[in-house]
Amino acid sequence: MKKIVILGASGSIGVQTLDVIAQHSDKLVCLGISVGQNIDWLKKHLIHHSYKLVVVKNQKDRDELSQLFPLQEFDYGDNGLLKLAILDEADTVVNALVGFAGLVPTLKAIEKGKDIALANKETLVVAGKLVMDTVKQYKVNLRPIDSEHSAILQALQGNSLDEVSRIIVTASGGSFRDKTREELKNVSVKDALRHPNWSMGQKITIDSATLVNKAFEVIEAHWLFNLPYEKIEVVIHKESIIHSMVEYFDGSIMAQLGSPDMRVPIQYALCGPSRLPLSGQRLNFNILSQLNFKPLDESFYPCFPMIIKAAQKGGNQMVIVNAANEAAVQLFLNEKIRFLQIEEIIKECLESIPYKEIMSIEEMVQLDHAIKQSVLNRYKETV
Ligand code: NAD
Ligand code: MG
Repeated sequence: MKKIVILGASGSIGVQTLDVIAQHSDKLVCLGISVGQNIDWLKKHLIHHSYKLVVVKNQKDRDELSQLFPLQEFDYGDNGLLKLAILDEADTVVNALVGFAGLVPTLKAIEKGKDIALANKETLVVAGKLVMDTVKQYKVNLRPIDSEHSAILQALQGNSLDEVSRIIVTASGGSFRDKTREELKNVSVKDALRHPNWSMGQKITIDSATLVNKAFEVIEAHWLFNLPYEKIEVVIHKESIIHSMVEYFDGSIMAQLGSPDMRVPIQYALCGPSRLPLSGQRLNFNILSQLNFKPLDESFYPCFPMIIKAAQKGGNQMVIVNAANEAAVQLFLNEKIRFLQIEEIIKECLESIPYKEIMSIEEMVQLDHAIKQSVLNRYKETV
């Protein structure tokens, strides 16, 4: 029996993880969950489920929930989250938090010998080297919950990484792929949140529209599979049917295909390489008449080359990019800035904050906080 805790259980990945666990109750059990501020969801959920530990963000919510469910143990805040990440009885942590907030719980869980099923891509984006070194040091497994990295992992089965000539990460192009740069000036939040193929949390949906998400996925692939950036390519594939590909020295390409459904990579991260049954839509090649591909247009998606360049520079650069992006996306979602200002804010932060080589985790946390505060304060009064 795999004993799991889920950080961020009420979100898009969290809820789908609970579904996968429910479909395999003979192999998987969930011992604890955390939720941010989605307390209505939690109240309904706890009518039918109980856990060793349930963590929420705010003390006030913890107090109210403790009254409503007196037999359930609750905790709150960052300390509560860490307590859940290192829960004694658990062997696997599913990290489905959004943003930098996922980093420290991931590291603490690894240090306690937990396996990690990682959806929280910001963890690898800001601290890929530190995280992968810690994974090696504590001899745990870290498996990706992302359709692209899961596809790569699956396409690598039975083959050697040493014989890979390149990996090809597919990208849907996001909500605005059919627009012009001129049209992007006035797009609304509602339009940005309408992703053509996937239903996901708000932040990643905006990151898909700016292609920040794809740059992050290239960085994740670099750390997960220990491949140089030169061997990682991106192609626009609007159907999101091929989830990514691996090309070997002999020219053979292994791809993983399927209907867009995050429960497939979630299940593979928890149970792979075994192939367990999973309900869901199957591909019908009689209806699917064509698959389309086109090159990534870097002038349409300037965040992509900017972020890859920053990642190659290393040091504090990805902490800067990530913090600037998180703050900018929040401002955009709150209608304080326009869509194209997201890329401007990332660029400004990269240009104005000095490069620094080695960073401790404490320095990363500080820098992340300082950048977010400064960006959010700057646009606080904007309407
Ligand atoms: P979401 O917004 O739907 O859910 C996030 C969850 O984290 C919620 O349960 C929320 O309550 C909780 N949370 C957020 N901030 C918190 C905090 N500070 N403390 C405690 N809890 C907090 O997000 P999502 O779409 O499920 O994405 C989660 C992660 O997975 C992201 O890093 C995203 O990039 C990645 N991812 C998502 C998808 C997808 O299909 N949704 C696909 C690939 C990767
Ligand atoms: Mg993805």
